[in-house]
Amino acid sequence: MSTDSDGNKHNPASARSIETIAVLGAGTMGHGIAQVAAAAGYAVVMRDVSADALARGIQSIERNLAKGIQLGKLTEHDRDETLRRIRGTAELEEIRNADLVIEAAPEILDLKQSLLRESEALINHNCIFATNTSSLSITEIASASKRPANVIGMHFFNPVHVMRLVEIVTGAQTGRDAIAAVREVAMRMKKEPITVRDVPGFASSRLGVTQGLEAMRMVEQGVASARDIDTAMELGYNHPMGPLRLTDLVGLDVRLNIAEYLHGKLGTETFRPPEILRRMVRDGKLGKKTGEGFYKWNEPEPAQRAYTT
Ligand code: NAD
Repeated sequence: MSTDSDGNKHNPASARSIETIAVLGAGTMGHGIAQVAAAAGYAVVMRDVSADALARGIQSIERNLAKGIQLGKLTEHDRDETLRRIRGTAELEEIRNADLVIEAAPEILDLKQSLLRESEALINHNCIFATNTSSLSITEIASASKRPANVIGMHFFNPVHVMRLVEIVTGAQTGRDAIAAVREVAMRMKKEPITVRDVPGFASSRLGVTQGLEAMRMVEQGVASARDIDTAMELGYNHPMGPLRLTDLVGLDVRLNIAEYLHGKLGTETFRPPEILRRMVRDGKLGKKTGEGFYKWNEPEPAQRAYTT
């Protein structure tokens, strides 16, 4: 039982009582979250302010499901049922009956806070509000709420229908019931939830970025080539992809922003962006999206590496 800032008592929705999930945003993350929620049997309302984004989101879900059928992972019946459960809308009012709202709008604190306020004016007192923020503080987002016990982070990974991790991020005032409920929801979506305190970088980015930055410093110092450093992690540590190839896929500009943010917030040297990263971003070598980063992406894939001892 929690009390809101108006003094009203309320019980956050329990996992069992969650039937309808509203997803705010139909972009890269929003459509993926809507897809896995519908596939798990929830009724889904996917809301975007842009009609184009909404249409693109639905198309991406259809494409993902078609691929699932091609790969023999889904039946046509699964696809039809999943699509039937998703309602796209441009109207925020349509989230009124949601038991859980998952916000996947752009990474702007003011926007997330105003969406939280607008949502709270519509949803019932028990509804949980989860944000998919990848870097903002849950406690800060929740400071806009009258029921901060019901506000939590649910950090999915891209592409959502493939990646199994969900970081459940607990703000300073997040209630235990809300944590238990969203953990169960994540498991019903066939995800593996981990619970993390609200600290910059949560668990995943903080560790992942550390390794990426250290790998860049090793290239800078001529310890080994980018390919050999990646191979060390892929074959020596069984990582599916080395840290520099991953950086190329994420985008060097994105990595630089995150490193600057974490360096500012955590203050440790570990997160100081290496000079090579700054220089490559200045030179427009942003990774796969510009054709060059630590790898050249316009050239054919390197031949399969032989594992020699
Ligand atoms: P995106 O730009 O692909 O999608 C955002 C969508 O939100 C757009 O379609 C936009 O039209 C819509 N939108 C804008 N204002 C809105 C509003 N008021 N209500 C509803 N929809 C609105 O962004 P994304 O990559 O999906 O990122 C969304 C969130 O997920 C961000 O907080 C981001 O940090 C986080 N995230 C992203 C990734 C990733 O790899 N892209 C991974 C984990 C978390």
